[in-house]
Amino acid sequence: MALRMATELGRRIRLEAAVEEVAVRPGGCRVRLAGGESLTADAVVSALPVGPLRSVAFTGVSEARLASLHRQRQAVAAKFAAAYDKPFWRSLDLNGLSECEGVLGSTWPQSEGILSALIPPERYGVLLGMPAPVRDHELLSDVARLYGAQAFQPFTSYLRLWGTDPWTQGYVTQWNPGDVMAVGPLHGTQKPPFYVCGSDQWVAGYMEGAVRTGRDTAREVLRHG
Ligand SMILES: Cc1cc2nc3c(=O)[nH]c(=O)nc-3n(C[C@H](O)[C@H](O)[C@H](O)COP(=O)(O)OP(=O)(O)OC[C@H]3O[C@@H](n4cnc5c(N)ncnc54)[C@H](O)[C@@H]3O)c2cc1C
Repeated sequence: MALRMATELGRRIRLEAAVEEVAVRPGGCRVRLAGGESLTADAVVSALPVGPLRSVAFTGVSEARLASLHRQRQAVAAKFAAAYDKPFWRSLDLNGLSECEGVLGSTWPQSEGILSALIPPERYGVLLGMPAPVRDHELLSDVARLYGAQAFQPFTSYLRLWGTDPWTQGYVTQWNPGDVMAVGPLHGTQKPPFYVCGSDQWVAGYMEGAVRTGRDTAREVLRHG
């Protein structure tokens, strides 16, 4: 859906263009991309997750607002998926749902024959410590402990290290005790011509947060410009 919407916008969408610097000024904002190109605009809407946002240099945004944005965190997690010809776990009367004690935190059937698993923040370091050539085997060992040796025979598997991907630096918004008060009342607010949206700017992250804050921010931009 995102790609189809992007086609309608044509050349107005710039892909693989990393923002490094944002200067916010009423009457003319400037965004500098990696490589040095500068873009000018009446307003800036940031949809960056809070991790990558920390690396962007801002001017014209109040220290209090930046402190609030920079105080947020993401859960550092990874996702592993293994695809099989059929959901072999069902032959053992198992439904593929589990909470695990290994490196995998949980498994669930993503689709017919596809098992997904999450590596939660407290186990992410163990995952990073695995030498790359043995990673898949060690993760499949966790699956095999649950569902038997057939787990070692996926036709493909895929590991995505969301927690250390430079463009996400996490999985979903995480609120530790004390964070709500520390991030404070500026969370989720807008100060034209600088707007912030994205799932981290909602109460609990997730797709619902990305969509809700996106729509709310678009409304605000149309109202204020
Ligand atoms: C494995 C996994 C499973 C999930 N499962 C669910 C689920 O079941 N249900 C659910 O509701 N949510 C789920 N989520 C969470 C959900 O995917 C996210 O909350 C949501 O996609 C975040 O949307 P967003 O638009 O805020 O940010 P993103 O989709 O992360 O978009 C941010 C964009 O900013 C770009 N970017 C970063 N830095 C820069 C920069 N400097 N310059 C330019 N661009 C930059 C990134 O490349 C990216 O395209 C899951 C997430 C993961 C990782």
